[in-house]
Amino acid sequence: MCGIIGYTGSESAVPIIIEGLKKLEYRGYDSAGIAVYGRDGINVIKRKGRLAELERHVSGISVNYSSGIGHTRWATHGEPSDINSHPHAGSRNEIAVVHNGIIENYKQLKEQLEKKGISFISETDSEVIAQLAEYYYDKYKGDIIETVIKVSNRLEGSYALGIICHDEPDKLVAIKKDNPLIIGEAAHGNFIASDIPAVLKHTNKIYYLEDKEIALLHKNQVEFFNIDKEPIKKTPETVTWSVESAEKGGEPHFMLKEIKEQPKILRETINSAGNDGENKIVIDNLDITRYNKIVITACGSAYNAGIAAKYVFERLCRFPCIETELASEFRYKDAVIDEKTLVILISQSGETADTIAAMREAKLKKSDTLAIVNVIGSTIAKESDYCVYTAAGPEIAVATTKAFSAQLAVLYILAVSFAVKLGKITSETERELMAEIAALPEKTAAILEKVDEIQKYASTCIGYKSIFFIGRNIDYAIAMEGSLKLKEISYIHSEAYAGGELKHGTISLIEDGTLVVAIANCERLYPKIISNAEQVISRGAKVVLIGKNCRFSNANCELFDLPECNELFSPSLSVIVLQLFSYYVAANKGLDIDKPRNLAKSVTVE
Ligand code: GLU
Repeated sequence: MCGIIGYTGSESAVPIIIEGLKKLEYRGYDSAGIAVYGRDGINVIKRKGRLAELERHVSGISVNYSSGIGHTRWATHGEPSDINSHPHAGSRNEIAVVHNGIIENYKQLKEQLEKKGISFISETDSEVIAQLAEYYYDKYKGDIIETVIKVSNRLEGSYALGIICHDEPDKLVAIKKDNPLIIGEAAHGNFIASDIPAVLKHTNKIYYLEDKEIALLHKNQVEFFNIDKEPIKKTPETVTWSVESAEKGGEPHFMLKEIKEQPKILRETINSAGNDGENKIVIDNLDITRYNKIVITACGSAYNAGIAAKYVFERLCRFPCIETELASEFRYKDAVIDEKTLVILISQSGETADTIAAMREAKLKKSDTLAIVNVIGSTIAKESDYCVYTAAGPEIAVATTKAFSAQLAVLYILAVSFAVKLGKITSETERELMAEIAALPEKTAAILEKVDEIQKYASTCIGYKSIFFIGRNIDYAIAMEGSLKLKEISYIHSEAYAGGELKHGTISLIEDGTLVVAIANCERLYPKIISNAEQVISRGAKVVLIGKNCRFSNANCELFDLPECNELFSPSLSVIVLQLFSYYVAANKGLDIDKPRNLAKSVTVE
């Protein structure tokens, strides 16, 4: 799950590539490198560590190079090191390659090439691509397109590739399978990139490369071929994202910017999914009465959104069988699903490897798939039977906030729409529920006005070794998200428990000075969660109570009051406090919030 950029044009390639890589660092950041053409052939410069390391090394480089490729890596094969960084060149230094993905048969290919006398220098799966390319380039007498086709036909696994060749100093070649790659056409030259923000400063004219399509970039034109080497015609799309929307907007971190964008994101998502927006057609066309089972499957925060949705679907639709499954488990469990099952997949990037696999498993078993995805044109968006887009825009911080909120909103709207179709709610209830959903942006904005209060409280919490989150029913789902957010960015150990489960285990961990965050939005269960709060306070814990109408008063309990809201949609409010809490704990610890250690944004590997 790395970031790839390539450029060929009339301007100086090195600064353009470095700048593009900065926009892609969220995709991987354990090492980075570039390859450019020089008089003496291909020059590869690569460094372990953050992009700044590479930038220092290329700062002295001549500005004359006008074509090249760059990569920011998230290692899957071979530790982060200078040698394992990309680009990888073949032994003759004729071809250099940047790769995003995993080559599953690299060991076999490596053995075969080694038998032909080719020696490898890195531990990566990716080097085999460069070596294989040089091997075929020689065999096919300098035909770079033929070479790329032959290479692609030998590779098993996933890849997005940017390729340069010493005989073709003005050209770049790109191909992809199961990983994203776009082509940007600008006035001064052409780009390949893993994601749009990398090229947005130069162009908004974007071609989305499909699996096994090949792009041949010249300085002033782009040609496309299919895997049989036949020229194909592709139509560019005009991206309406502004450059600013992909920048930090004046905040210290993307995460805080993205947290603060949530009222707007919710409004846009609700408009496009609930009213007359284009997503409404998808929702209307889906006939829920055809199914007898719903499985919601996803990973990480998207999975937590799915858990919250299960409560909403059950309550509103009274649907007999709704399961939630981690995509990484679902894909291997030989799920009992069939053509009467609707499998709902949730993924911000639409490229999450486990969720893609879950989708394909569902399709194999003839189930219908409905995707909730943020990235238009992503693999899940394209391959699912139905797709509802969240309108969260590019999310740069690794820890998701706005995409999560947008997923929740879509799921609420789906639940209401299904409940209507199933005849479980009246049109009056539908109207009331939709009005509640439509009021969420304003309510989240009201919570964001209290940011100082949350910041002040969070600054007192950086010393905790462990923080527990509890809730009941739908509050438990959001407790899980609060806990995940905290551990992702603050590195504080944390667990989420259903309030009623405390006594079955976790309570043994409560001692003097433990912090317990309790979520209390479910009116019926308020006394229960308060009694859980009392139980932990009497064992020495401090409690933060987040909910509406919190009426609990205790010297060891801090209250964060939420606006009045139907409990089914309250996760959208609680989560704002939880995100801000995690953010400020991490900020007070001085951590690298947008790029937490060991994590990466779109998890395109298993
Ligand atoms: N599998 C490759 C590696 O480990 C590429 C990883 C990536 O996508 O960054 O180098």
